[in-house]
Amino acid sequence: MAELDLMEKIVSLCKRRGFVYQGSEIYGGLAGTWDYGPLGVALKNNIKNIWWNMFVDGRDDMYGIDAAIIMNPKAWEASGHVAGFADPMADGAMFNTMFETSVGAGEEATVAYLRPETAGGIFVNFKNIVDSFHPKLPFGIGQIGKAFRNEIAPREFIFRVRELEQMEIEYFIRPEEWEEAFEQWRGAVHAFNKAIGIPEKRVHELEVPDGERAHYSKRTIDFEFDFPFGRRELYGLAYRTDFDLSAHEKASTVELKYQDPETNEKLTPHVIEPSFGVDRTFLAVLASAYAEDEQNGEKRVYLKLKPSIAPIKAAVFPLLKNKPELVERAREIYTDLKKDIPQIMWDDNGNVGKRYRRQDEIGTPYCVTIDFDTLGETPEMLDTVTVRDRDSGEQERVAVAELSAYLQNRIRV
Ligand code: ATP
Repeated sequence: MAELDLMEKIVSLCKRRGFVYQGSEIYGGLAGTWDYGPLGVALKNNIKNIWWNMFVDGRDDMYGIDAAIIMNPKAWEASGHVAGFADPMADGAMFNTMFETSVGAGEEATVAYLRPETAGGIFVNFKNIVDSFHPKLPFGIGQIGKAFRNEIAPREFIFRVRELEQMEIEYFIRPEEWEEAFEQWRGAVHAFNKAIGIPEKRVHELEVPDGERAHYSKRTIDFEFDFPFGRRELYGLAYRTDFDLSAHEKASTVELKYQDPETNEKLTPHVIEPSFGVDRTFLAVLASAYAEDEQNGEKRVYLKLKPSIAPIKAAVFPLLKNKPELVERAREIYTDLKKDIPQIMWDDNGNVGKRYRRQDEIGTPYCVTIDFDTLGETPEMLDTVTVRDRDSGEQERVAVAELSAYLQNRIRV
């Protein structure tokens, strides 16, 4: 499959099947904006939930926050973004890519910015978390949220957008611990990729050399992914020293230090920052999962998504749409199952083969068919259903009483 061709296929599948639409499409769109449809939002939520469970809820040393998108502009002056968050334009002039807005009315109105990264909201809450929770070093603060960048040339579908979503962590450490913490987070980035089905062999670490790193960073690794249009940055991992806390302390005149509860020693923690883009992760997941093969002599497109990340975990069908007794039993099974597994879908359109193709294309790992044997046509098969596996196409007969547990065991991975 030619790689560019693959990108076209992914974009068209996303639109056709309700993953991602062009933003404001009926008005001709707005460059760099995309709208996530029902399946897209489900997949995106699964990505974010896996991240949050792994890095916030699943750990004792992490605190989650959800800070405001519009912050006091002084915070962006202190962090260096007002002066330096700029990209070169074609004629060589620098262009600040922060979106400006104004807060308040009339003469009271002041300039403010839509945050260009979620990290800023974390640093300004450092003192709040320390005062409320008294964490011991090392500890981290994580946040998932929207960020905005007026990119000069948004392109490559959801790879470079103007309204994006980030999952970021600031992990506060003692300065002498930075190398160890950096290695731990480096491993954690790979563990996350594994959990969401991004294969190791498509991810490459790029050690960002001296002179190309942000001024505050002593070490940065870009995790690059082989996208269909080339090898590009997927995530970043940076050692930001005490640059941010020191800068905010100076500008706000509020002390942003950590006091050791045992020795009373005061220090400005240093920080390791793993930064993940949700939209790029979404695209990497789709590019990794997209597959074509032949099943029963028929060509098919399927998304080989890990069940834990698939937007729909199972689809439930009555074998035939025009047999009320089948439809009624299938409805019962569907309704019961939906209580345990909300991400399931009902489908009674077309024949079973067509339904399989449709579910394959959106990555549904299991299809459940209710047929005449379920109703007892073959007595020993009473109250059993067919469960078909997306990847192998193989079918298994499962008792209705065990169906929920059967699926729940399999969709966790
Ligand atoms: P690039 O060099 O590609 O512009 P960056 O180095 O500016 O990216 P960071 O500032 O490190 O990116 O942002 C952290 C993460 O946020 C990136 O690794 C990426 O996943 C995501 N990200 C940044 N800019 C965009 C964008 N315009 N569209 C989508 N995701 C983005």
